[in-house]
Amino acid sequence: MKANTGKIIDVDLSAGTVKVEQLPEEYYTKYIGGSGLAAKLFWERGNFDADALSPEAMLLFMNGPFAGLKLSGASRHSTAGRSPLTGGWGDSSCGGFLAPELRYAGYDGFILTGKAAQPSLLLIEDDKIEILDASEYWGQGATQVTESLKKRFGKAYRTLVIGPAGENLVRYSIILNEGHHATGRAGFGAVMGSKNLKAIVVKASKKKMELVDPERFEELRKELNPKIREALASDVLHENGTAANLIGGMYAGDVPIRNWTSNFWEEAADALTGSTLTETYLTKRGACAYCNIACKRIVEVKEGPWAIPEGPGPEYETIVSFGTLIGSIDLAATCKAGRLCNDLGIDTISTGGTIAWAMEAFEKGDLTKDDTDGVELNWGDLETVIDVILPKIAAREGKLGELLANGSVAASKKIGKGADYTVHAKGLEAPMHDPRGGGHGMALTYAVEARGACHVADPMLFAEMGARYYPEIGFEYELEPRTDENKAEAAVDMVAFGAIENSACFCQFADAEVTIPEWVELFNIVPGYEWDAEEMMRAGRRVFYLKRMINYRFGRTADDDKLTKRMLEPATDGEPEGVEINFEGMKQRFYELMKIDPEKAIPVKEVLVEYDMADEAGAVW
Ligand code: SF4
Repeated sequence: MKANTGKIIDVDLSAGTVKVEQLPEEYYTKYIGGSGLAAKLFWERGNFDADALSPEAMLLFMNGPFAGLKLSGASRHSTAGRSPLTGGWGDSSCGGFLAPELRYAGYDGFILTGKAAQPSLLLIEDDKIEILDASEYWGQGATQVTESLKKRFGKAYRTLVIGPAGENLVRYSIILNEGHHATGRAGFGAVMGSKNLKAIVVKASKKKMELVDPERFEELRKELNPKIREALASDVLHENGTAANLIGGMYAGDVPIRNWTSNFWEEAADALTGSTLTETYLTKRGACAYCNIACKRIVEVKEGPWAIPEGPGPEYETIVSFGTLIGSIDLAATCKAGRLCNDLGIDTISTGGTIAWAMEAFEKGDLTKDDTDGVELNWGDLETVIDVILPKIAAREGKLGELLANGSVAASKKIGKGADYTVHAKGLEAPMHDPRGGGHGMALTYAVEARGACHVADPMLFAEMGARYYPEIGFEYELEPRTDENKAEAAVDMVAFGAIENSACFCQFADAEVTIPEWVELFNIVPGYEWDAEEMMRAGRRVFYLKRMINYRFGRTADDDKLTKRMLEPATDGEPEGVEINFEGMKQRFYELMKIDPEKAIPVKEVLVEYDMADEAGAVW
């Protein structure tokens, strides 16, 4: 095996044991790597009856086959397992710097089970893998712990750390790499917390990697990196970050406002857009390993109530989650809120979504001061959010902290009200792209992706913007965002393509410039999968199918492939005003095209056999 090492580390934190295992090559050629490989390993070894926060739960960290190569955007990693927020399959892509270090150390990933007897950290230094006591860091913020670990081990040691929220099992807790890059979605920080694992530290002594055809890879790399960097979209991302298109999104009706009750706020567009951040608080640009786009922001707010020193700045999702979604246009406050969420260790999307739901509940009288420890929840009141609500959530403090720490769905169930205005799919709070304005195809993919409402599970968002064409596989649709025309057909390719991206751990912003023939060649000259385009797309579809089958074994059915009332009711203003989404029509067409059983929501048996999944079929048919 080349590029992939074939080796993973199996850590049992209860027993305190560490095993290195060699995986069959077929796992890679069938499931690619990253989140696909994680799904395959979970399928083989996971305990489907185990609660996500029990010692029996399995947490997986996996690289893609291009990790550690100097190919722009191709060195992310994937974290996966049962989500404590949704109860179903979860995976979350993280940028940063872990993946190359792990690959250089000799591993494609690691699996954690069990629960350590005391707060611990996992140290990986080539062949030396140890579980060390970490009691001194328990209770501390992610930023402080990251700094302490860098001081203790050295700056070149790569870190994954949870904050107090993960320790307190807040169900949308994150894992933070290098104090900046988040494994944001699905709550895996809480899974680490449930295992008494505060941090993971990785260092390799060398940078050697073997590829199938290193000379050809070097030639291709020298073509791809400039092509990726010189694309107009990359330039825009570099200059103004992921919020660069916030104005365009606002005029399309894509930007959620006050818990998705409005689709247009003109003043907010200018106040929060990426160029405003550049002109006000940006001090530097940052990047994940080997990425030449550098979309990350480093900011400083010098004065005022939200003053923060130079450090990680907010991306689009954070800006909207703590901006228009909760009724604010205070950009400095979003910088402060994002920084605080990183330190406490909570996902800005689910946090913003849950608070927005709570604000609406308070406005409607569904939540009262009796439920909130006397705290008033008012639109746009960032002072209360930052000073009171975020710390309460992370500590699960009082009635309010306990109510919101389990997410918006659990909160609405607990009070027995407000389900209609939750905004999620499968329990995962939706990201900051409203399909009513951004594109109806996204409503479909939010609902059918295994982990729930997610804009990076697949590139449907980009396809509906007209930014994805793959003529070699017949993907040449001229998609009009606010209709259902060709959306199910496009989704068939986009869900497979999303599975490829997330299994290859290639950033969507960078891989947008890579053509199908280039993708295929990369898989052939780096790990040597010996694919053509058809086989590559089959692998993507196989990963998509397998994740659905995992969900089925968790008890999910077609009833879970849905959106909430709020997400499907026609918009009341802005570009999408009054437009209906033909959600059921798209979903039924997608099921037909993908040969998905309309009740079980998994592929029919014949398809599984056709996709070389006959063994897997035996577990579900
Ligand atoms: S484009 Fe941004 S998120 Fe993607 S790899 Fe580069 S720096 Fe990371």
